[in-house]
Amino acid sequence: MNSQPRPSRSTYRCPDCEGDLAATDGTWRCRDCGYVPNHGAD
Ligand SMILES: [Zn+2]
Repeated sequence: MNSQPRPSRSTYRCPDCEGDLAATDGTWRCRDCGYVPNHGAD
């Protein structure tokens, strides 16, 4: 199987490079490009 429609339950994917997001100090951050997802701040 090559196509993975959605990430696993406890794994987030970077929308920028589709890398792995690692949780650091409660903040998700991409280990590949350093992308940090926004926390609903609106
Ligand atoms: Zn990334």
